[in-house]
Amino acid sequence: MPLHRSLRLRLPLALALGFAAPCLAGAATPIKVMLLTGQSNQYHDWAKSAPVVRDALASTGLFAVDVVTTPPKGADMSGFAPKWSDYAAVVMVYEGAEFPEATKAAFVAYMKNGGGLVTVHDSDNAFPYWKEFNEMIAVGGWGFRPNGTIGARDATWGPKIRWRDGKMVLDAETPGNASHPPRGDFVVKTRTPDHPIMRGLPAEWLHANDEIYSHLRGPAKNVTVLATAHADKTKTPTASGEHEPMLMTITYGRGRVFHTTLGHVAPRDTAPFPSIQCAGFIVTLQRGTEWAATGKVTQKVPADFPTAAKTSVRAP
Ligand SMILES: [Zn+2]
Repeated sequence: MPLHRSLRLRLPLALALGFAAPCLAGAATPIKVMLLTGQSNQYHDWAKSAPVVRDALASTGLFAVDVVTTPPKGADMSGFAPKWSDYAAVVMVYEGAEFPEATKAAFVAYMKNGGGLVTVHDSDNAFPYWKEFNEMIAVGGWGFRPNGTIGARDATWGPKIRWRDGKMVLDAETPGNASHPPRGDFVVKTRTPDHPIMRGLPAEWLHANDEIYSHLRGPAKNVTVLATAHADKTKTPTASGEHEPMLMTITYGRGRVFHTTLGHVAPRDTAPFPSIQCAGFIVTLQRGTEWAATGKVTQKVPADFPTAAKTSVRAP
């Protein structure tokens, strides 16, 4: 077939398939993200943290964020069945009642088929007995036992993730379960600078007034440690003394998980909330959510990112 004829035939086909649509529309379609929240244990307050997380995501202009709120603590969860597959990623600020079995199974299928999950601080305490959730987050802590006391995740849940001698190691030997030093500012250290979420971020930055989650345990499979923080024994004698994982990615089936342990907000706290208004928390959340949803990060690192010496807390 002569070349000119071939082009003539192909152009209308390309238009019909919508290849030219992004140019005509002028802007990319927003990425659909579900912010899933609605229950906390007595140490956290989703009603304070979730709106800050929502605004952080919306402010990028990249995401269309739907907030999905579960029934409140103690209420009937049997009808809770969000349509996971409508979303490119699910961002979880949740530690509460178990979802119905069918809802959990649908979420596992969504993730295995290439879904995205972002878990924020509180969510490390969620679903200690949900095997697949433990695999998605790699490690977690605390969690309610069937008798209602906190502290389900123990040594039988799996090893701890440590950063020693320049690499990630799994520690199944050292005793001790989830804990954290008292809240304060601490340095977050980049460990995988070439990951799309971390590219362009400083090697170290000072995070504002948060908890260094320590001794988290779980299956710890298919996990990459993006950043750590030192739980310093010289500052707190009960600290682990280890470089604890703060930011992680996990591959689950064809799904992608961004796990941030940062973001403590207590029920008695009043705004501002430095831990989640820290530009470092916000930017890693925004970048981690884009990566979980698409596998890429297109966002530039803003000028107000904290430095190793100075925190950077944004106005609400
Ligand atoms: Zn906390």
